[in-house]
Amino acid sequence: MANKLTVLAEKGNWYKGNTHCHTILSDGKWSPEKTAALYRDNGYSFLFLSDHRIYGHHSDLSSEEFLVIPATESDISVPDTVFKCFHIVGGYDPGLARKSLADSDRSMNMPSWDGIGSVQRIVDDLNDHGNLAILAHPVWSRNNVADIQQLKGLTGLEIFNNVCDHEWNCGDSVLVWDLLLSEGHKLWGFASDDTHDPAVHALGGWIVVKAAELTPANIMEALRKGSFYSSTGPEIYEFYVQDGVAYVECSDAKAVHFMTYDNLGKSFRASDGATLSKAEHKLAGYEKYVRVEVVDAFGKRAWSNPIWIE
Ligand SMILES: [Zn+2]
Ligand SMILES: [Zn+2]
Repeated sequence: MANKLTVLAEKGNWYKGNTHCHTILSDGKWSPEKTAALYRDNGYSFLFLSDHRIYGHHSDLSSEEFLVIPATESDISVPDTVFKCFHIVGGYDPGLARKSLADSDRSMNMPSWDGIGSVQRIVDDLNDHGNLAILAHPVWSRNNVADIQQLKGLTGLEIFNNVCDHEWNCGDSVLVWDLLLSEGHKLWGFASDDTHDPAVHALGGWIVVKAAELTPANIMEALRKGSFYSSTGPEIYEFYVQDGVAYVECSDAKAVHFMTYDNLGKSFRASDGATLSKAEHKLAGYEKYVRVEVVDAFGKRAWSNPIWIE
């Protein structure tokens, strides 16, 4: 473990974005134009407009300083259950609208349920057409780990979903993430708003991507490689493992938690009146992965992606 291990790009700029958002084209309350303007005016660099079963391009809302990434949210419900369903956010390939699950007017045709394989077909369709595929709000969807770990080709899952947190207190899927990671599933963690009513759901959960330039291709490459962190408040500036020691640098924090599996990691806490802006943890050497959580004075959290120790 002498070499430096990290998922963040060595060089680049930081770009804040929301990967899950609805508008009046599905069940959101605001227009695409007004929604995009809200995020742009609040310092975001990119936004997925991921309306339900509609592949939204919105290229007219993009500029060099603010990207609206083509996106959609696919869904399939499990029959004979009270609520169980699978929602998959896909994004990027502008050509998808005229291929496969999507028809010519951008609305998506969902497969009928025939077991977890029908969810896999949604994921495959997205991947086959150059999209990433993010499992949305698994706790809200009542997804269990046994089902999720059968799916192949997911880019990651939502570890924090702001509308699910705000409306039903089930936006936190971090434990689901750790259970999947500990089984060796290399999934990136995404925080998002899943905005329906921007007045109450916007600006609560986001990711910050480290990439060379603000282009769709660069952002997508960074998302596939895990070169980003998720947050509801704090910032993470560095996170890497060198010579068997995990290091993090972050905005002022009250606690920094190194999370490892299968053995325990380590928590560091600031004393009264003080804050932490860096921490390090010596690994035992047999961890599968290490990730870090940063907690600020308001209880807001940031999550790095995992670094795999192999
Ligand atoms: Zn959803
Ligand atoms: Zn949604």
